[in-house]
Amino acid sequence: MDELIFASHNHGKIVEIKQMLEPLKIKVLSAEEIELPDVEETGTTFEENAALKALTIAGLTGKPCLADDSGLCVNALGGRPGVYSARYAPNRDFNLAMDKLLNELKISGSTDRTAYFACVLVLGRPDGSYKSFEGRVNGMISECKHGSGGFGFDPLFVPDGYDETFAELGADIKNKISHRGRALQKFIAYLQSLS
Ligand code: IMP
Repeated sequence: MDELIFASHNHGKIVEIKQMLEPLKIKVLSAEEIELPDVEETGTTFEENAALKALTIAGLTGKPCLADDSGLCVNALGGRPGVYSARYAPNRDFNLAMDKLLNELKISGSTDRTAYFACVLVLGRPDGSYKSFEGRVNGMISECKHGSGGFGFDPLFVPDGYDETFAELGADIKNKISHRGRALQKFIAYLQSLS
């Protein structure tokens, strides 16, 4: 495979996927290079939504397409926002989304701050077949926002084994241990098994 479409309009995800696939010399085309429709996420699981995006775009373009569906699952909130993480942000404003999350945790009265990020990557093919790869990282929700790197909820998420948030740790560490990084490592191993 020498060319792959990454079906996302999320700049943060696009940057991470391109960084991680760079060593494989695969040309990654995203919504930042070619016009791609915004596929509505009507599924109720990460896998359903990722497959929907990957297969729709693979069918439209006739090219293999990778799509990611991911989110933050907070245990004290029963796993929310989960698959609805992108829509949890008023007007997609993640500063407000983080304030909302901290407020919900406060209102819940729970002292449990454990959470995890989950990601399912789906490689969809124009013939309608697909393969999925899952990654997860456990951690804690910090008391307030720290750091300016990454995107989304990164300033609130401290991965297990670290004292800083994803937004403070920087791309190299995040890409190695993150939900997306772990799903992508499985995807890369799959690509290598084909050659
Ligand atoms: P979707 O997969 O496009 O529906 O959006 C996933 C949402 O989950 C993002 O908009 C972020 O709110 C959140 N999210 C997923 N991965 C990350 C991450 O690596 N860092 C921070 N937030 C993330």
